[in-house]
Amino acid sequence: MTTNLKIAIAGPRGRMGREAVLLVKETEGYELAAVLDHKNGGGLLSDSDGFAGMEVPVYSDVQLLMQEVQPDVLIDLTTPEVGMLHTKTALEHGVRPVVGTTGFTKEQLQELEELCHDKGIGCIIAPNFALGAVLMMKFSQMAGRYFQDVEIIELHHDQKLDAPSGTAVKTAEMIAEVRETKQQGHPEEKETIKGARGANYDGMHIHSVRLPGLIAHQQVMFGADGQTLTIRHDSYNRASFMSGVKLAVDTVVKIDTLVYGLENIIE
Ligand code: NAP
Repeated sequence: MTTNLKIAIAGPRGRMGREAVLLVKETEGYELAAVLDHKNGGGLLSDSDGFAGMEVPVYSDVQLLMQEVQPDVLIDLTTPEVGMLHTKTALEHGVRPVVGTTGFTKEQLQELEELCHDKGIGCIIAPNFALGAVLMMKFSQMAGRYFQDVEIIELHHDQKLDAPSGTAVKTAEMIAEVRETKQQGHPEEKETIKGARGANYDGMHIHSVRLPGLIAHQQVMFGADGQTLTIRHDSYNRASFMSGVKLAVDTVVKIDTLVYGLENIIE
């Protein structure tokens, strides 16, 4: 008899968290063992709106959850501040994290990588779980070899806490690996309103649009003499991220290092 994979979800009432609860509930071989929520600790998930019949324990204390439940995997979909604490605590308890929370710094990623190494267990952190978005990043990297001039425009709902998005930063990093560094635009360019040219990553500009009605979208525009190339991906709902979350959960139990970015686990 095969045993179910015991999964805990941090942030179950959030927009991503709700989809993840559904994913775990509907996937054969997965068991939702507990949720981590800074509200409602000590109760059941069924006490929260929209989770009728789900008699899953709610913890507010990440340490306690890890000690009492000992899940195989923690899926974190919260905020960067608490997400880091959750991920660290999970690793310290030998629990493999799958992190969708965005906004971790380079230093934090390095700290987590070292912790994975010390504990000999895997962790997957993916700023974008949508497979189409991962392809958009890969195609952009391919184009970055031939086009030095690029502007990244990411568009998200207006409740997003971090800017630029993790996906935009990751895209810029991937392009920077293959693109010859160039300070774009006119050398004497001046912003008459601060921020007009967006953030600057290795000479590439990143623009963050925040509007109600949007979910998660990104357009990468390349320009050269007489031509432009635009690569665009749109997530129209949060279900678009769940096939990537499932892939990450199935993969994290088989690896013993930190993987940052879904593009490193798909062919
Ligand atoms: P959201 O709707 O604001 O959900 C965040 C949830 O985290 C809320 O339910 C919030 O509770 C909860 N939370 C806050 N502090 C907590 C704590 N100490 N312990 C447990 N839960 C806590 O945001 P979202 O749209 O679901 O996004 C969640 C994260 O995923 C963000 O970082 C976002 O950027 C990222 N994201 C990633 C992807 C991807 O593909 N990787 C896609 C979309 C979003 P309250 O409601 O009580 O504050």
